[in-house]
Amino acid sequence: MIVEMRTGATQDEVNGVIERAKALNLEIQLNLGTDKTVVAILGSNTGQLSTDLFGVLPGVEQVVRIMKPYKLASREFKPHNTVVSVNGIEIGGKAIVVMAGPCAVENEQQLMEAARIVKQSGAQILRGGAFKPRTSPFSFQGMEKTGLELLARARERMGLSVVTEVVDPHDVSLVSKYADILQVGARNMQNFALLTKIGKSKRPVILKRGFSCTVTEWLAAADYVLAEGNSQVILCERGIRTFEDSVRFSLDISSIPVIKKFSHLPVIVDPSHAAGHYSLVPAVAKAAIAAGADGLLVEVHPNPKEALVDGLQSLTPSDFARLMKEIKSVAGSVGRSF
Ligand code: PEP
Ligand code: MN
Repeated sequence: MIVEMRTGATQDEVNGVIERAKALNLEIQLNLGTDKTVVAILGSNTGQLSTDLFGVLPGVEQVVRIMKPYKLASREFKPHNTVVSVNGIEIGGKAIVVMAGPCAVENEQQLMEAARIVKQSGAQILRGGAFKPRTSPFSFQGMEKTGLELLARARERMGLSVVTEVVDPHDVSLVSKYADILQVGARNMQNFALLTKIGKSKRPVILKRGFSCTVTEWLAAADYVLAEGNSQVILCERGIRTFEDSVRFSLDISSIPVIKKFSHLPVIVDPSHAAGHYSLVPAVAKAAIAAGADGLLVEVHPNPKEALVDGLQSLTPSDFARLMKEIKSVAGSVGRSF
């Protein structure tokens, strides 16, 4: 349940709520809003407790039960948008943020060239997988630690921030040493051990939507990170599995306004894994911005024909440069800057 304090409630009054929760063996999370404080009361048995237990305390305005499975990701807990800040880049603010780069780090030359292209086109964050969650165990699995070292080198040389995927909970601290943003892939959206570990790490994280998961399940997964005290969660819509087979996955464009309605978390879109073909990526990317996405995660490769992974959906440097120009007017038409 959510305990909303009155505007101007004192610290003692807030402490009174916290103490009662502790006495009942319940967990709490505070949202210290600019106008009022909200206390989320968390625990598996809160459904059986009377809201009066908190409603009678001094300074409490109202107690609301959140009937949805997700609590901390909800707008009831935090009415205002969360803005995740990464080295001064704000994700979830007015400006659209583009993260781009190859699906996988393949070698030093490929990554440095990709970083140069990304930088030159005006994107702020470099993506590149060092640990790849491949469908087949016989496919290239990524360069692992060497890939992380190359990402760190590209970051230094180009002054870009870096996002890379972490697949195994045991690698969270290793990947956090090199990455500015951790990525949880679609296949790991409900890997709760991984989410909890990332929650404890306090690194910003991109949580991709599982391709067979509902928006509700996605937001409940975000709660695993938020519950550990890591509030820097960025959601990423990357397409879901439907009967349609002319694209790799069907981009659920409505999930963007749905997320904006029910959650305070920023949401970006990966048009590459959804479309699955480079020719479709620009239209899907622009539609995402028009629908209210806070940014994009796009696959770009210096030479897609030679890519070890996902070459078919990777943009060439010139196609990416063109898309970056086109985004500007779409962003402007929906009141965003770019
Ligand atoms: C990726 O970003 O390279 C990736 C594997 O994406 P997803 O987890 O969405 O399939
Ligand atoms: Mn990929």
